[in-house]
Amino acid sequence: MQQADIQFITDMITTLAGISESCAAGVQRRSYTAEYRKGVDYVKEKMLMEGLEVHEDALGNLFGRLAPGDSGNINLPAIYSGSHLDTVKCAGAYDGIAGVICALEAARMIQRSGKPLRHPYMVFGTIEEEGTRFGQVVLGSKFMAGVFDESALDLFQDPETGRTFRQVLDDYQALSQPERRRPEEDISASCQDRSLEEESQTLTIKESRLNPEKVKAFVELHGEQGAVLEHENCDIGVVNCVAGIIWMEITISGMAGHSGTVPMKLRRDAGVAGAEMILDLNHYVTDNYSGRATLTAGRFLLDPGSANCIPGKSTFSLDIRSGDREILRRISTRVEECAARIRARGYGVDINILSQRDPIIFDESIRGMIGESADKRGLSYRPIDSGAGHDSMVFAAMRPTGMIFLPNRDGLSHHPDEYISPENLKKGAEVLYDTIRRIDETEDM
Ligand SMILES: [Zn+2]
Repeated sequence: MQQADIQFITDMITTLAGISESCAAGVQRRSYTAEYRKGVDYVKEKMLMEGLEVHEDALGNLFGRLAPGDSGNINLPAIYSGSHLDTVKCAGAYDGIAGVICALEAARMIQRSGKPLRHPYMVFGTIEEEGTRFGQVVLGSKFMAGVFDESALDLFQDPETGRTFRQVLDDYQALSQPERRRPEEDISASCQDRSLEEESQTLTIKESRLNPEKVKAFVELHGEQGAVLEHENCDIGVVNCVAGIIWMEITISGMAGHSGTVPMKLRRDAGVAGAEMILDLNHYVTDNYSGRATLTAGRFLLDPGSANCIPGKSTFSLDIRSGDREILRRISTRVEECAARIRARGYGVDINILSQRDPIIFDESIRGMIGESADKRGLSYRPIDSGAGHDSMVFAAMRPTGMIFLPNRDGLSHHPDEYISPENLKKGAEVLYDTIRRIDETEDM
């Protein structure tokens, strides 16, 4: 069995952890910053050193292609593996990056094995998965999938600088230019060549869209970002789905009044009614769907919000997630029932559904291949739902897609102390490699 090179993986993690914007703690490489550019250039250089054919699309998504062997065909659809290259503010050193590096290590393993794939193999690193610049998560992959087109460049704006996406992209391209073009090309480039180059650059926004017929499958390795795998001492998470999510805002209207004069029995305290509703829903989900759904009231506002006033109004958010559409429906019904009970006592209750997305289920055959690969290596594995969003949920709408989760220490992610052990990264890279081999050998996908 082919072994992963743990030194290669940890060296890359360490180097990238050293390329950071200045921040209070951890690593920070937000998309389209100079440090992001440096990080990409480093990964690009590594890809080139491993003999991959490298290109970037107009958005900044990075690709490194390993050609198939003589028994294969360059025109067959490619097997894609990777993750995102950007980070949140004050992030850890593993989120996203680990998936890109393990995908690159899988390319090295293919080469070391002396047995090339039949299909082209594409290592990718997406840009702006985290949504730190324009409030739009999975932005790079959405362009790859053709969800967004050129018009989005004028639609989205960076709230910190006021610059549009198009302007940010221009700034980023200016960062890239001196390194992208070799000096001798500068000298020889005629005006005509330049205009051709400019023309091709304006076309590439469209070209960032992948042709699904040129893609066989996507596989993404990622940290779990939760504590289930570690808690169960499990090596590999076979991701079932990205959970469906409902965001609601609930407003309860009661009666404001003086905290010292209105007797308890005569009150309509909107704060208490809100707390009652949150508690009821919390118990309902914990008792019935523990491990299968989550419910969080992350924001709770009281009006007028003074120590000596009975709250006349309370507003709170609900974030409800589950991989099971039926469970989401039942929890929503419970919200309605709670609201009806509170209304019956003379309160007003408004339920505003802000957004709703169904669970995105990953490809069954790829899930099977990940499980088999882990099993053959003698690793423990279990099915798991992803509560967080990933590029793979965008890819899943295009072509068969699968995700491999690795245990995060203490379940920490989006945190400077995020950590995945070298042993677990090695196991992950090996399962990824085996899964890619299985996909390569499959005809019916
Ligand atoms: Zn991530």
